Amino acid sequence: MIVAVDGPAASGKGTLARRLARHFGLNYLDTGSLYRAVALRALTAGADPADPAAAVAAARQVEVGDLDDLRLRDDKVAQAASVVAAIPGVRAALLAFQRDFARRGEGAVLDGRDIGTVVCPDADAKVFLTATVEARAMRRFKELQARSAAAIYERVLQDMKLRDARDRERHTAPLVRASDAFELDTTALDADAAFVAVLRFIGERRQRR
Ligand code: C5P
Repeated sequence: MIVAVDGPAASGKGTLARRLARHFGLNYLDTGSLYRAVALRALTAGADPADPAAAVAAARQVEVGDLDDLRLRDDKVAQAASVVAAIPGVRAALLAFQRDFARRGEGAVLDGRDIGTVVCPDADAKVFLTATVEARAMRRFKELQARSAAAIYERVLQDMKLRDARDRERHTAPLVRASDAFELDTTALDADAAFVAVLRFIGERRQRR
């Protein structure tokens, strides 16, 4: 079984996708970490993440070991990730890895922006999470505070709006709900409630197939 979980930053994708993977005994891939790894490689090389040649070269060098680097979580890397993610050659370089991962073993849960639309258009179940940008910025702000990172809510909100716009407005694989995805607004839902709602959807979907 392949489950696609898409949505904007801090919509609850990672928490939900990890839990679904554990529940169904499937592999899990956070595809955002691939774009973050490309960005980190470009930044570390002193390159401009918006430079297509440098970004594509970085994408071709990405290895599984890169995905554990703690620096991937930095906000600077997140912003640069959304810049490299708009470059078609970068997306193309990462596509085969994601598709192979999805098909391995019993299947997988992948979370990202274009899993249901581009990476796994034939996924058995597709989920699209949303939440207001204010609620998502507050989640990220609290996460940063918990890591004792200096954070200003207004700044986090502004960065999130910028990243949302880049992800939604790019030409290649923009953030958009697949027509057959179950859309869930998590603004007022906790992780348990979101998990229960999605499990119900997947159960119904499997019965129909
Ligand atoms: O999900 P995360 O916030 O880690 O993703 C970082 C960035 O990577 C996103 O803002 C987006 O630009 C890009 N991304 C993407 N397609 C995916 C996953 C992430 O374009 N499937």
